[in-house]
Amino acid sequence: RDRLRSRGLGDVYKRQTSALEAHAKTTFVTIGTGGLTGVYYPTGGAIAKIVNAKKDKYDIRATVESTGASVFNINAIMAGDLEFGIAQADRQYQAYNGLSEWEGKPQKDLRAVFALAPEAVTFVAAEDSGIKSLKDAKGKVVNIGNPGSGNRQNAIDVFEAAGINIEKDLKAESIKAADAPRMLQDGRIDGFFYTVGHPNGNIKEATAGKRKTRIVSITDIEPLVKKFPYYSLTNIDMAQYPEATNANEKVTTVGMLATFVTSAKVPDDVVYAITKEVFENLDEFKKLHPALEGLTRETMLEGLTAPIHPGALKYYKEAGLMK
Ligand code: GLU
Repeated sequence: RDRLRSRGLGDVYKRQTSALEAHAKTTFVTIGTGGLTGVYYPTGGAIAKIVNAKKDKYDIRATVESTGASVFNINAIMAGDLEFGIAQADRQYQAYNGLSEWEGKPQKDLRAVFALAPEAVTFVAAEDSGIKSLKDAKGKVVNIGNPGSGNRQNAIDVFEAAGINIEKDLKAESIKAADAPRMLQDGRIDGFFYTVGHPNGNIKEATAGKRKTRIVSITDIEPLVKKFPYYSLTNIDMAQYPEATNANEKVTTVGMLATFVTSAKVPDDVVYAITKEVFENLDEFKKLHPALEGLTRETMLEGLTAPIHPGALKYYKEAGLMK
């Protein structure tokens, strides 16, 4: 009986060891996203879902973290605290080339993986604030975003293009995008900026409240688009926000792509697996959030200014998407 028992225990040990071995092989990766009501967070979740479905094949376990967004994500990836992150194409460009926040400190280990949904610089304002254009923001309280966000610099850029100095001409707040709709509804701010894909929960929350709001058109920004290669003119489809007071107007603004980025230090096979699974399950991926609807294999290769990670490149060559 003792023999039987010890054999039984041996089996238990064996099982435990193999579980430990399996665990040791698993590669854990964390994807930095943005605020819970934006598009980055559900997009990161969609990437993780697609990859985790193939756990048996790759032994990769991806998790998602809500963060301060683009700038935070790039810095955390460069510090080795995150393996992947989502960042605006303009931020990817600035980080790699040592501009803006990274002035004189180019992030040469930053790597592009693929592009995601387009984002639009979105300026939401309370109807009772009287803000109908950038210039009307003079003397008002406007949230331009937390320092780790991508949108903060976008707000500064468009105001500057309109001849408005955010330090002198208005009261600029630095709160997280996720908190802005409630602050607007509570009457604590007159408007806020969010560079984000559409539709999203944040702008729905802001436009569906009791305090009436509009999405302000950003006009006369052609010089800005000429000056910075990463901006392009775009529109916000207002059918997505029927409760905005200007739901029937055409809203113009500037935008850029969201991109999926990593570090040169992340192993090729991990980046390869994630790239391959997202591209080969694109129809399923697109269904996971309405803002992802318009993605194609071609648009997903745009807006990549940092070098493409070799793991992703391997897949693009294999799939005939790149030479
Ligand atoms: N583009 C925003 C930023 O980087 C985040 C948007 C989102 O979370 O969907 O600040």
